Amino acid sequence: MTEYAVELRNVTKRFVGPSGEEVTAVRDVTLQIRDGEFFSMLGPSGCGKTTSLRMIAGFELPTSGDVCLHGKPMGQTPAFQRPVNTVFQSYALFPHMTVGENVGFGLEMQGGVAKADIQKRVTEALEMVRLPKMEKRRPKQLSGGQQQRIALARALINRPEVLLLDEPLGALDLKLRKEMQLELKTLQREVGITFVYVTHDQEEALTMSDRIAVMSGGVALQVGVPGEIYERPNCKFVADFIGETNFLEGTVCRPPNGTAEIELAQGVRVYADLSADQTLSTGQRVFVAVRPEKLLLSEGAPGANRISGQVEEVVYIGTDTQYGVRLAGGQKVRVRAQNHDPFSRPAAASGAPVTVAFMPQAARVLVD
Ligand code: ATP
Repeated sequence: MTEYAVELRNVTKRFVGPSGEEVTAVRDVTLQIRDGEFFSMLGPSGCGKTTSLRMIAGFELPTSGDVCLHGKPMGQTPAFQRPVNTVFQSYALFPHMTVGENVGFGLEMQGGVAKADIQKRVTEALEMVRLPKMEKRRPKQLSGGQQQRIALARALINRPEVLLLDEPLGALDLKLRKEMQLELKTLQREVGITFVYVTHDQEEALTMSDRIAVMSGGVALQVGVPGEIYERPNCKFVADFIGETNFLEGTVCRPPNGTAEIELAQGVRVYADLSADQTLSTGQRVFVAVRPEKLLLSEGAPGANRISGQVEEVVYIGTDTQYGVRLAGGQKVRVRAQNHDPFSRPAAASGAPVTVAFMPQAARVLVD
C-alpha cells in the first residue's frame, strides 16, 4: 500500500458558468497527502479548495487527471463507494431524530449491522467527540459547537480512511472556534484518520495542520509544514496571505551568491539570504519580504541591515506594540515589538527618528 492516503494527479476541473463561459476551478493540481496526516487546503474564496475536496469525495469528477485513494485511482467511482466521509459547515442533522439516531443513521442505512453493535459504536463515537450521555437529546437542544461535534461523530462512526472537512468551524463564534481547533487536532491524533481540511482562515490552518497547501486561482502555490509556509513563503501571494508581511521593492545589484544585495528606493542597500534553489539576475525587480516581528527599532546585531526612518504611528495592542515607520526611501513598514515587560514603554514615540534593522536571514527575496 502507498504511504499516501490521497493523491491528486494533474487534476483539472472546468465548469460551465451561468452565461455559458468556462470556469477553470482547479488547474493541473498534483498533491500527495500522507496517511494519518492533518492536511489543510488554504486559500481565499474562489481559489478552488472546495472543488478539490469535492473531487476527493466523489461529488465532482475531474475534467482531466485522477484522484487516488491509498494508491487506487478513483476514476468514476461514486461518492458512496469511496472510503471517505465529509463534514460540512452546515451540520445537516435531522431535527426529528435524537442525537443517538443521527449518529447511528449511516450504519442503520448500511444494513447488516446488529442493533447492539450500532448502539455500542454510537456510544464510542460520542465519547470520541467528548459528548457522552447526550444520546437522547434532540439537535435543537444543543449549542452550535455541540451540533458540530455530533456531525463529526456521525462522520467518524463509519470509520472512514479519510475524513474531509469543509470549513466545519465556520459557523461558530471565535472563542468556540479556537477551542474546537485544538480539540479537532487532538481528536485527529487519537483516531489516526487522515483529515483533509478546507479553510480560508490562515491562523486556523497554521494551528491545526501537519502540512498546508496554499491555493490561489485553482493552483497549489506552495505545500509545506506551517513553519515553512510562514517563514519561507515561495511567492508574494503566500507571504501576503499568511500573516502580515512588509514588501520592500528593489533591484538586484549583482549576481547573488547565497545572499542577495538589493538596492531599494533612494539607493538604500540591504542584504537578504536566498534559498538553495533561488536564482536571480542583476537588475531584476524583486521584493524583500520581512515580517513585522522580524524588524527591530534599534541598530540590531552586527551584520543587520539598517534603514533610517521616522515613526508615524504607535498602536498598543496588549501582547505587543505596532509601529508604522516611514523609511528613508518613502516606503512605509510595520514593526511589531512584543511587550515582555509589564511596565514596558513604547520604544519610540510618534514623530521620532528611528533605525529599522533586520537580519539577512529574516528576509525572503520574492519575485511577483
Ligand atoms: P469558497 O471558500 O468561497 O467556497 P473555494 O476556494 O472553495 O471558495 P470553489 O468553490 O472551489 O472555491 O470554486 C472555485 C471556482 O469555481 C469559483 O470561481 C467558483 O465560482 C467556480 N465554481 C465552483 N463550482 C461551480 C459550479 N458548479 N459551476 C460553475 N462554477 C463553479
